Formats: sequence, C-alpha cells, structure tokens
Amino acid sequence: MSTPTRITHLVDGQSWTGTAERTSPVFNPATGEQSGVLDLASASLVDEVVKSAASAWEEWADASLAKRSGVLFAFRELLNERKEDVAALITAEHGKVLSDALGEVTRGLEVAEFACGIPHLLRGGFSENASTNVDVYSIRQPFGVVAVISPFNFPAMVPMWFIPIAIACGNAVILKPSEKDPSAAIAVAALWKEAGLPDGVMQVVNGDKEAVDALLTHPDVKSVSFVGSTPIAKYVYETGTAHGKRVQALGGAKNHMLVLPDADLDLAADAAVNAGFGSAGERCMAISALVAVEPIADELISKIKDRMGKLVTGDGTRGCDMGPLVTSQHRDKVTSYLDAGVSEGATLVVDGRQDSYDSDGEGYFLAPTLFDHVKPGMSLYDDEIFGPVLSVVRVGSYDEGLKLINSNPYGNGTAIFTNDGGAARKFQRNVEVGMVGVNVPIPVPVSYYSFGGWKNSLFGDTHAHGMEGVHFFTRGKVVTSRWLDPSHGGLNLGFPQND
Ligand code: NAD
Repeated sequence: MSTPTRITHLVDGQSWTGTAERTSPVFNPATGEQSGVLDLASASLVDEVVKSAASAWEEWADASLAKRSGVLFAFRELLNERKEDVAALITAEHGKVLSDALGEVTRGLEVAEFACGIPHLLRGGFSENASTNVDVYSIRQPFGVVAVISPFNFPAMVPMWFIPIAIACGNAVILKPSEKDPSAAIAVAALWKEAGLPDGVMQVVNGDKEAVDALLTHPDVKSVSFVGSTPIAKYVYETGTAHGKRVQALGGAKNHMLVLPDADLDLAADAAVNAGFGSAGERCMAISALVAVEPIADELISKIKDRMGKLVTGDGTRGCDMGPLVTSQHRDKVTSYLDAGVSEGATLVVDGRQDSYDSDGEGYFLAPTLFDHVKPGMSLYDDEIFGPVLSVVRVGSYDEGLKLINSNPYGNGTAIFTNDGGAARKFQRNVEVGMVGVNVPIPVPVSYYSFGGWKNSLFGDTHAHGMEGVHFFTRGKVVTSRWLDPSHGGLNLGFPQND
C-alpha cells in the first residue's frame, strides 16, 4: 500500500505550505485504499484567502474584455490538452468509469467555450435621446469575490458550471470542492495560472462545514454558488442570504421517467438502464423512478432485466460499465434501501449485491438493482437514494403519472417516452420540473442554456451557466447621461417627463 499523497489548498497561485490543524482521508473507491490526506481549512485561513482574493480582484475587475477572453481561450486549450489527466483523477477518487469521467470534463469545457464569448455576452443596451439630449445605457459589472461550493458527484464539471463565467465577468473566485474527491477540481483550478490569470483571482480552499460557514458569513464574499444535497442547499441559501449575499443553491433530486404505452420500449429500456445506472446512479439527473403506464410494465421490466444482465460492475479503469459508490458509508446507506424496500412491500427483481466485482481490493460496490411495485410512502420512493437502484412505479394512466411527478417535492429533471407528439407537448407544458427530456432520459447541461431544477431542487432564482450565469456573476447598472448643449438649461422642479 503506497503512502497517501498530501492534497492541499491553492492560495495565491501556489500550493499552500502551511500546516493544517485538521485533515481528512481521501480513498480510491474501487480498491478501498486511502490515496490522499486532505488539508481542511480553518475559518482563519478562509479569512486570509478571502482578503487576498479581494485584493487580486481589484486589478482583474479592470482587465479589458480582450484580456479576459484571451485568458479564457488559453484556459480552454489547456484543459482540452489535459482532459484525460483530469478524467483519470476523477476516476481515482470518485470511482466513475473513465469514459464517463471524460464526458464530465467535456461538459465543463463547454462552459469555458461559452465564456470565451464574454465580450458579446456582456454587451449592454443603449438608447439615444431617451429624453432630448439625454442618453440611457445599461452596463453589467463584476461583483468582487464569489464562492463556489461543489458536491462529490461531478468533481470537475460542477465547479466549471460557474468558474469560467465568474472569471470572464471579472470576479475573483474561491472554490470549496467536495472533501471526498478534491484532486480533479484542484488540477483544473491550477490551469488558470498557466492560462495567464493573475494570482489570487482563482483560489481553492478545501474543507468541511467550518470552511463553508466561514465563506457564508464573510463580509467580503459577495455571492455563493452551491450544488449539493437539499438540506445543505437550504442551509447555504438561508445562511448566505441572511448575510447579504446573492445565493444560488442547487439541491437534490428524485427524477421520474414516464413511459407511455405507445413508446418504443427498446429505446425506453436502453434509456432507463443508461440513466438509472450510469455513474452508479450518483447523478443529480439520474432516473430513479420509472413510471410505467399500464399495460406495458411487465414487458418493459423484462427488457430492462435483460440489459442489466450484461452490465459489468468494477474498477472504472478496467473498461467496466459501472464503477463503485463514492465511500463505504454511502455504499452501506444505499444497500440498506434493498432490505427496506423488501420489508416495505416492493418486489426485488434484480439484487445488486454480488459476491465479487471486477476489481482488486475491497471497493465500495453495489451492482445495478431493480425494484418493481414501488409506491409513494416507501423509503425507496420517498428518499433520494443516489445509487444504482431503479424503482418501477406502475400507474394506470398518463394523468396518474403526471400527478405523481408533480406531487414530488423535488423538481430537478424528468423525461417522457412516447411516440405521441401531442402527449409530449402536454407533458412539457404541465410538468412541474426544471429540466425535461422528450425521448431523452437525461437532459444534460448545455452550456448556453441554464441548468437547474424547481421546488426543493433549487433555492434562489438563478440557474447555473448560460445567460442566467452571466447575470448571477454581474450587477446591472443603468446610466442616464446628458452632455449639455450650450443652449440648454433653466430651472424645472417637476419630475422629468421624457420630452
Ligand atoms: P453534500 O450536500 O453532502 O455536499 C455538498 C457540499 O457541501 C460539499 O462541498 C460539502 O463539503 C459541503 N457540506 C456538506 N455538509 C455540510 C454542512 N453540514 N455544512 C456546510 N457545508 C456542508 O452533497 P454531496 O453528497 O457531495 O453531493 C450529492 C448531492 O448533490 C445529491 O443530493 C445530488 O442530487 C446533489 N447534486 C445536485 C445537482 C443539481 O444540479 N441540482 C448537481 C449535482 C449534485
């Protein structure tokens, strides 16, 4: 067993050289070996980092749009060159298979590409002669120091939903990655210096609640972009806004896929397996409830079962279909839902507890699992399991399926499978969910649209990236300007009328 590598903060463009008061272990979930030891930031270190970010920001806020977009283009090229290395870091700490990790980096890269267009994205409006000799124009200005707090499940992509846009808009960023798999985010953050970004404009503090609370309450942190579970998202939103910050806090999910009787059942079965078990179900857009409109449930389940039989679970570096869960605690929690599901009356169709997996060591595995006859009120249905457990809920009609989805407290993603365009259109209009797929199981993030759910899946009103991202990371200002004509003048105490 090799000695765990030290993983530390990125402060002022350098790896931090201080001594941490507290650390936490990082594991390779495919082998169960400890691969790293992570420094956890104290509140006083966070304070120092915020101060240095605030001083670096003053210069960066004045950088021309040409300079900023130049850095963005350079960053994009560097990340594109190193994407395989970043993907390897993701697989080593998160466990997802390499091809999936590479897909994640590519999605993040697309946000950097979007942010390369910042001169266009920040163009304001101009109205000549809004009143006689008075012009009105709008500009958007950077905030200052902004914080990004990210979850374990997309260690590279989720930080990239925010960071390229925040930097392009002229802010200084402090990232607090997940303590479970921080290395990919730190490696990507280090590329900004190489791309020409001044030191201090992009910093990383690692840590847990202490570091998060220090960011949420620090007067010089102007906004917080958070992604994680719903209880923490709500806490971050409430604490951050109570401290005067702009906050977008994306939370958990329970995504339903509604399959109508006229759907192509082979397409639907492929989609359910891909979206249910990809990344071991640890995606906020994973399908966890398959809502089958009768009479198709038996046939659909049989097709899904056939496909599940072909999947190999194991080490993500070995070309398997599905990797481990992120930690042993999470694997145990997800596995506990299997016994709970049986005792609550659901039918266990495929049990993912296997004797062995394609891996060396004691990885945190659970193979794909399928339940039938799942109903609201069962923990399998009510909880966000965040593992490779797919539940089939049988309903009698489209209306019953829609009602079920709209009654759920989460509203992140959903999908409908049908060959009836009218039904799909009705669903897209009436479903109370932020992201909808039509014959597409996971409507994945597209950088130039904004990403985010409804209800308990998002606190705040701004989604990630796209134009909503540009708005989140800037403040609007309207200027009303008059350059006096020498003949103009005179007193008028009335409220101006535009004449
Ligand atoms: P998490 O809520 O446990 O952690 C997220 C971040 O919050 C981490 O950086 C963590 O260090 C920090 N944190 C944890 N506990 C905290 C506390 N008590 N106080 C302050 N900070 C705390 O989430 P996770 O397990 O890392 O990620 C999985 C969750 O993220 C799932 O619920 C998933 O649905 C959600 N997610 C949502 C989206 C989305 O777009 N809505 C995207 C990805 C993940």
